[in-house]
Amino acid sequence: MINTCKHCRMQYYDLKPGYCCPFCKDIDKMRYEQIRAYLKHYPHSNAIQVAEALDISTYTVLKYVDEGNLDFGRGEFERL
Ligand SMILES: [Zn+2]
Repeated sequence: MINTCKHCRMQYYDLKPGYCCPFCKDIDKMRYEQIRAYLKHYPHSNAIQVAEALDISTYTVLKYVDEGNLDFGRGEFERL
């Protein structure tokens, strides 16, 4: 299936749904760690706050949420 990379927005082929192309794996991991660390300090942040604090796009943050890897706290995360 065709997936779109959340970092470079390149379309790439994979057998399963995904959000990151093979070229951005390192960035993906780094960003994930940054977002997770930020949420540890500020658990009730929304996507815009996280994006601004880490200087990444809100789109990217929301894609991480779609992946289900981030814990924004139950019901506290505002989907913008
Ligand atoms: Zn990419």
